[in-house]
Amino acid sequence: MATPLKRISDILRDGDDFMVASHYNPDGDAIGAMCGVGHLLRSLGKHFRLYNPSGLPARYDFTPLPAPVLTELPDTLPRWTIVLDCGSAERMGEPLVARAGETRIINIDHHLGNSEFGEENWVDMHQPAVGCMVALLAEALGIPLTGELAECVYLAVATDTGFFSYGSTTPESLELAARLLRDGLNIADMNRRITKQWSEERMHLWTEVMGTVELHLDRQVAIGIITREMFERTGTGSDDTENIINFIRRLKSVRMAAILREEGPDTFKFSLRSYGEDNVQAVAARFGGGGHKNASGGTIRAPLKAAKTMLVEVAGDVLGIR
Ligand code: 5GP
Repeated sequence: MATPLKRISDILRDGDDFMVASHYNPDGDAIGAMCGVGHLLRSLGKHFRLYNPSGLPARYDFTPLPAPVLTELPDTLPRWTIVLDCGSAERMGEPLVARAGETRIINIDHHLGNSEFGEENWVDMHQPAVGCMVALLAEALGIPLTGELAECVYLAVATDTGFFSYGSTTPESLELAARLLRDGLNIADMNRRITKQWSEERMHLWTEVMGTVELHLDRQVAIGIITREMFERTGTGSDDTENIINFIRRLKSVRMAAILREEGPDTFKFSLRSYGEDNVQAVAARFGGGGHKNASGGTIRAPLKAAKTMLVEVAGDVLGIR
């Protein structure tokens, strides 16, 4: 029985028309992996389109695109759609979920509890980033990991490993970075492009969010709030919130850091972070969300006060904090 990597590389070699998609509100791994697969298909001389319902976030506008990122689905979907970094079909966004029957989905992902929603599924939760899987795909296809492809892979892996600092970082991901560097990647320039993205508006938002942080359960659970009113007043948006939670996690006493971000009336998107054995994926799963052991998210539909109470209760229960 061929491995998923072998089957998928065969499909990429044999097919001639593809769409490459990643999850809405894309992060660096979603963008880097999507563009990386686009570069692979370009090298193979295939016809392809890139699709993300949220488009390319401004903070990743330096990404070397192999094609424009479409925010609307084409009238006719190609035979194959490669879906990257989506732990469940719902993460592809509503328009593609509604039309998933018109294409054959290749699901390449690294999330714990991936629902294997594709016709082909390559799910490896031990990979720290889908970008690492794109590098394996490049190897299987005999495509050199250099130039724009290398930049996309690095963007994906560096952002999803917190610049090779999270527990998910593997020896292989460090070896991959070493190889990219050896083969000509300008790592200092990439890191500058990835991190030097702050606007003054973002700084004002972060100052406010830090001021909302409350500590619960013997100071082991920290919750910060982001309201729509804060976005409006500071002239910011959800793009400006990426990573803020990692700074809340730095509080010495905290085992689980949480951010509740208002999305609509009594609707909050939550993000959770922990270290080591504290499994926040299990906390998110209780609310129908998902992710990884130390980084997860989901949605709670309740007024703010009730949402906070539920999150604290479930965290206490799952993490055994009383
Ligand atoms: P973030 O907090 O950065 O939005 O997400 C952290 C992790 O949780 C990511 O791996 C992301 O894919 C996952 N995640 C975030 N929101 C959801 C959600 O609503 N459903 C699922 N299944 N996973 C989510």
